[in-house]
Amino acid sequence: MISFEVDVVIVGAGIAGCSAAIAAAKEKKKVLIIEKSDSLGGNATQSNVGTICGAYYRTFSEYPRIAGYSFSTAFLNKLISISIEKTPKNYHKGLFILSYEWSVLQSFLEIELLANGIHIMKFSEIIRVDKKMNSINRLIVASGKESVEILPKAVIDCSGNGVVSQLAGLEMIASPSYQSASQIFRVKGVLSDSEFSLNMSLKKAMSMLVKKNSWPQSFTFLSVVPGSLKNKQADFKITFPDAITDLDETNNELYLKGRTSIETVFPFLTEEVESLKYALIETIFPKLGIRTLKRSKGKYILTESDVLSCKKMDTGIAVGTWPIEEWQSDGNVSMEYFGPDDAYMIPADCLISYAFDNLFFAGKNISATTKAIASARVIGTCLQTGYAAGKIATCETLEEQKEMIALLNKELLFGNE
Ligand SMILES: Cc1cc2nc3c(=O)[nH]c(=O)nc-3n(C[C@H](O)[C@H](O)[C@H](O)COP(=O)(O)OP(=O)(O)OC[C@H]3O[C@@H](n4cnc5c(N)ncnc54)[C@H](O)[C@@H]3O)c2cc1C
Repeated sequence: MISFEVDVVIVGAGIAGCSAAIAAAKEKKKVLIIEKSDSLGGNATQSNVGTICGAYYRTFSEYPRIAGYSFSTAFLNKLISISIEKTPKNYHKGLFILSYEWSVLQSFLEIELLANGIHIMKFSEIIRVDKKMNSINRLIVASGKESVEILPKAVIDCSGNGVVSQLAGLEMIASPSYQSASQIFRVKGVLSDSEFSLNMSLKKAMSMLVKKNSWPQSFTFLSVVPGSLKNKQADFKITFPDAITDLDETNNELYLKGRTSIETVFPFLTEEVESLKYALIETIFPKLGIRTLKRSKGKYILTESDVLSCKKMDTGIAVGTWPIEEWQSDGNVSMEYFGPDDAYMIPADCLISYAFDNLFFAGKNISATTKAIASARVIGTCLQTGYAAGKIATCETLEEQKEMIALLNKELLFGNE
């Protein structure tokens, strides 16, 4: 069996995994990413969520402030420099979002990982986790027909569903079912240049069609991904009422069912909505947009009350600025806000396994309750937890880890001087 010794192995090349890898590589560590699919970016590219949320403080002033590290600022500025969209938009109630194109983000991540000397194994999946005392000492990865042995000093699980903790048989933070999933698809030949009026026409047509064809009520909320209408094309988001669980088979079936629903619904829309009369589906994005799944359990579990009270902690390593956003099975979304120009902090202990000294988490796999993750899962926050996990995982002793957490906290509060 081929064997690799690495300082830090990262499971999952979503936004969190890529940020973690860059942060660890900047500390001059040998970093390897294991990614199940053939591309980088996870939900952000393969589901094409289309907008970055949680990167700015919610504010009623004209100029939003970027939340988090100078790493987040540099990341966003570089992405903006190669994107068409140059400024964040005030989406609603003081929430600022930044639109991006999935292919631009994907190439950007490829270039950044390459520039930082990070190794990536695509089409590869963790199948076994071995432990010795309080540490993980070996991972077995299935890569094509080969099995590969990884001997890591530290592991960061950015899989979005705590796969490392699951394989190690650890306690998880789980629910019988999760927020509804949405599927995003791209439509070309759209004869409208106003997202507002396109959304209005979609809503009107879908209300009528849902009644007439007995489609799920959630389809009434079919909408345009904010900022995606340009050059006669737009990305549409449809939410499915089916329960999301931790069962891969059920979720895969839903993806197939979802594709069929979109192909069934769309021809009716082209008849009912004037601006869609010549429109065609260009792409149904390859990954069903599953918002949350099972998560890893850390030394601390972030709660709804921490989020809504904007709790600050001196071990805080990320600032959360997005409200609690939960998608219901009827297609409605519920938002619970905290005050403007404020944020809650995510403590380092949400990123550190309760069981293993060398297992860390980032992104939508941090240790948080169902309500808390409904805020902390957005891309702007994943960028920060990824960065922090990458830095913390490079520490060789608990003392070093404490100092790193203090440094990260200082940077969040006072900037990187
Ligand atoms: C429909 C929808 C709309 C959204 N809208 C927005 C929005 O507008 N703005 C916003 O900021 N956020 C939005 N989000 C949330 C956001 O996109 C995600 O929470 C965020 O991108 C998660 O990043 P991540 O890196 O933690 O996980 P993911 O993006 O899920 O990445 C996990 C990666 O791990 C890989 N992986 C999984 N298991 C394994 C394994 N066993 N071995 C190896 N690799 C593995 C996966 O292939 C994937 O690449 C939305 C999410 C959804 C689903």
